[in-house]
Amino acid sequence: MLAPMLDRPFRFDTLAIHAAQSPDPIHGAVMPSIVLSSTFAQSAPGMHQGFDYGRTNNPTRETLERCLATLEAARHGLAFASGCAALACVFQTLRPGDHVIACDDCYGGTFRLLDKVLGPIGVQTSWVDMSDVTNVKRALNARTRWIWAETPSNPTLKVLDVKALAQIARDNGVYLGIDNTFATPVLQQPLLDGAHLVAHSTTKYLNGHSDVIGGALLLDDDELAQRLRFLQNANGAVPSPFDCFLVLRGLKTLPVRMERHVASASVLARFLEARPEVERVHFPGLESHPQHALAKRTMRGPGGMIAFVVRGGAEAALRFVTNTRLFTLAESLGGVESLVEHPASMTHGSMPADVRERNGVVDGLVRLSVGLEAVEDLRDDLERALGASRVGA
Ligand code: PLP
Repeated sequence: MLAPMLDRPFRFDTLAIHAAQSPDPIHGAVMPSIVLSSTFAQSAPGMHQGFDYGRTNNPTRETLERCLATLEAARHGLAFASGCAALACVFQTLRPGDHVIACDDCYGGTFRLLDKVLGPIGVQTSWVDMSDVTNVKRALNARTRWIWAETPSNPTLKVLDVKALAQIARDNGVYLGIDNTFATPVLQQPLLDGAHLVAHSTTKYLNGHSDVIGGALLLDDDELAQRLRFLQNANGAVPSPFDCFLVLRGLKTLPVRMERHVASASVLARFLEARPEVERVHFPGLESHPQHALAKRTMRGPGGMIAFVVRGGAEAALRFVTNTRLFTLAESLGGVESLVEHPASMTHGSMPADVRERNGVVDGLVRLSVGLEAVEDLRDDLERALGASRVGA
């Protein structure tokens, strides 16, 4: 039997540890059980205790889904085998002829799904700069079904006005989906600002230890949730019970981890901004960020990601990313360890070069996921790699 769900009036930090979990009534185990069984006993056909087959549902997965739903202030939660599996499920609600308005600087995998998977079957996507919401209004047509946005965006950390986007979505009878992977519910809860659905790559901050690939969808709308639940089961891209356990474990420290990610990223962004080797820093916590005021108003912190342009283009950027010692050169983000990557050749390589350039993913751009190491050590690492980035160094 699943433990009753803890909900309001507890605060977020308490819910991150306890939501949907309490000691197992049989053994008193404090941590949720990992239920590995792929099938569940039935007393008569269709008569069971809420679980019949592991692809359809699983107790450990359900605990994770309920915990994530609570943290995003949602009524429904669905967990997936990856963030991309979660996004694919949303986009499978579309039919040939339907239209999506998506933010122009989204994650490369989101672009790939909409452009290369949905495009050929007749789903049209308009890529717009959503930092000006009138662009979204202009792109609407009679076949628009979804407005899809990431905020802060990946990798240029553009911040969007979720309330304004939600108003447009509601006025026009279309769904607004927000990929909240970068901010996490610690820093913003888009459903409370009117979005219809929140998506996550739980691979990132929610798990936080770079040892799970996972995804999630959180929403209130019963009808849409039912459709997505059907697709989750039909596609079968569900997470293993062990991975669900790991994400539940990671969630318990999410609020404290985010506090440190934000504090260290804020120090390093200022450090980078003052360096002569750096042309431009993208970080919502800097006054120079175009949506700094919006971020201050709508987010509880600017996040733990920094993107910056190294002077000297691709050559200098590649010298930088191959000369850090603590920042490991690797895709992904949101773990306890610091990572560095070169979006143009790594995470955003699936975008055509002209689209990349237009969206600020220039050849000199470097992205940092600031981890939980001592910030002084991280700063020293950046300083040394910046030295190595100079032409002729
Ligand atoms: N959304 C964002 C913002 C991401 O950064 C990523 C992956 O980097 C994804 C979705 C896809 O998640 P996954 O790699 O878990 O499939």
